[in-house]
Order: sequence, then C-alpha cells, then structure tokens
Amino acid sequence: MAEKKDIRALTKEQLKEYFLSIGEKAFRAQQVYEWLWQKSVKSFEDMTNISLELRQKLEENFVINHIRVDHIQRSTDGTIKNAVRLHDGKIVESVLIPTDKRITACISSQVGCSLDCHFCATARLKRMRNLNADEIYDQVVAIKNEAESFYNRPLTNIVFMGMGEPLMNYNNVLEAVDKITSDEGLGMSAKRITLSTVGLAKMIKKLADDEVKFNLAVSLHSARDEVRDRIMPINHKNPIPQLADALRYWYEKTRRKVTYEYVVWRDINDSQEDIDALVKFCKIIPCKVNLIEYNPIDDGVFQQAQPESLENYIRALENAGIVAKVRYSRGKDIDAACGQLANKNEIAETV
Ligand code: SAH
Repeated sequence: MAEKKDIRALTKEQLKEYFLSIGEKAFRAQQVYEWLWQKSVKSFEDMTNISLELRQKLEENFVINHIRVDHIQRSTDGTIKNAVRLHDGKIVESVLIPTDKRITACISSQVGCSLDCHFCATARLKRMRNLNADEIYDQVVAIKNEAESFYNRPLTNIVFMGMGEPLMNYNNVLEAVDKITSDEGLGMSAKRITLSTVGLAKMIKKLADDEVKFNLAVSLHSARDEVRDRIMPINHKNPIPQLADALRYWYEKTRRKVTYEYVVWRDINDSQEDIDALVKFCKIIPCKVNLIEYNPIDDGVFQQAQPESLENYIRALENAGIVAKVRYSRGKDIDAACGQLANKNEIAETV
C-alpha cells in the first residue's frame, strides 16, 4: 500500500483540488485547513464539523504528522526547554523564555546543523535534516500553549535562534512564518519575529527581495575576516565585505535595522583592533548590538572575556552612537541557553 501523505504538506489550493476530485464541496478545504492550522488538531476525529464518512476517508488517505513534546525541563529562572520528537523519531529542542514584558519562543529550523561554528554545541550533532513548515509551526504552538498553561500569559515573540541555520531551510521557514502570521494560523505580527542567521550573504539579499516583514539578526562575533574565518568556517564563503554588501541591500529594501549578536572571548576577539572593526562595521547600516554571554560547551579554547573587555566594547559602541546591550544567558542550568541546544542524550548515545 502506498504510504499515506502528510495532509499538512498540501496548500489550501491543493486541498481544495482534492475535495473537488472526490466530489466534495470546495469549502471543505477551508474547514479542514482551519482544523489543521488554526486549531492544530492532531487527528481527523477531532474535526467535528466534518461528516464521519468524510473524516474516515481522510483517515484512509492521509496522516497528520505532528510533533510530540517528549520531555520538558524547567529552569530556576523560568525558562522551559522542550525536547520535541518529530514523526520520524528525530529530536529537536525549543525554548520558552519569559521576561517581565515578553514570552519568547526560541525555535529550531533544522535537526542538527551543517555549519561548523567552533563555539556551538549544535554543530557537533551528526544527524541532520531540514524541518518541514509544520514541524516549525508546531514548536510555536507547543510553546504558546505552555505560555498559557504555565504562566497564564500569551506568547509575544518568536526567534529563530534554536538549532540549525534558518536560511539553509529557506522555503520551509518562510512558509512556517506565513502560517504563524496568517489569520488562518496564529495571527501573530511579523514584527515580533526575528530570524537569526550566521550571515549567508546571498540569502540575506533574497530575504530583502522577498520583502519579508520580520526582523533580521546576524551572528557576527567578529568584523575581521582573519578572526571570523577561524571561528566560523562559513565566513570563507561569506567574507565581511560580502556580508556588508548584503546588509546594505537589506536596509535599502526594508529600511529595518539589523541586530548583531556578538560574544566576546578572551584572546580571540577582545583587542582594540576587534573593537574598532566592529564599530566600523556598525556604521554600514542602522543596527544594534547584543553582546551575548558565552555558554561554555567545550574544553576551554573559548572563554568568556573579562568584564573590562565587555565594558570597552560598550563604551566604544556608545561613543559611536550605537545601541549595545549585554544579554545574560537564560536557562543555563538546563542547557537551554544560546549554543547549548544539542540533544544531550543523543550526544551521549553517539560518543
Ligand atoms: N544558525 C543561526 C541560528 C542559531 S542562533 C545563527 O547562527 O544565527 C544561536 C545563537 O547562539 C547564534 O548567535 C550563535 O552564534 C550563538 N551561540 C552559539 N554558541 C554559543 C555559545 N556557546 N554561547 C553563546 N552563544 C552561542
């Protein structure tokens, strides 16, 4: 027997064609689409305004591949980490981060990551695949439900800062964002969504051409090619001048400022030369800088810089009129902080 198709891989148009092809009315597509996305039901049985006969027919022909939150960990600071099991058994992680004003969902776009940033735990995972749009969407739904049930608050923001490089899974990420922002989905504002990229120049230009409405963050960590080449091999193909060019293009088209994520490490990027290079880079387009606390993942090659180094960065940026903030890690005790998402159990399995 042919394998059943995941019904959520169909567009609304394709659903309509399917219903017409089996002699049903086109409006069934709208009803089923709402059940699948807006209401996120996990079985055809729950689609109560659809006749039993039609539900059975759908059941015979399709599956609803949904994620399962396998394991929830709660940090003493309120952060929650979900280990999310996909329909093929692979696991990704997503994180709920509460602050006074916001509840942010940090979600994954890939199983593992093919980039090889030397300071990031996700880079060590071997298994790898892109997430489908529905797998990305479902992570948001799971966190939205947790925000409501654990904190009695709405989900306010979404960041693509979990596992994977979102711009290497471009179509699925954009499709998920469409559904998240659509009234037939979660109806959230694109202004509250931020996509973080390692800095793939060509794809940043594509985002601008596609006129996306969400925010862009770039994991910069150094504005000097000789340093960035060493810690983020992707820089060889996307050197600083090319990245700068793509960001100029982004700003010309969108008029929206970009956030640079930046960790300061001892003896790696804590010299005056590094600071000067960042200040210069920040003058290319309007931006702000988030100085992220380092979350150690290894044997000590990378170490958080001294507080004075951070202060030097902040002073230099502020003198140049650039907004810079230090971001302290959340959820460290449960390995939920930046760069720590790595399915610890899985690593333990493979080593
Ligand atoms: N691939 C995308 C999305 C991942 S976002 C990107 O690179 O932007 C995860 C963020 O955490 C990135 O800014 C990454 O550079 C940062 N990061 C990775 N490892 C880290 C660590 N050990 N400590 C602090 N931040 C880290």
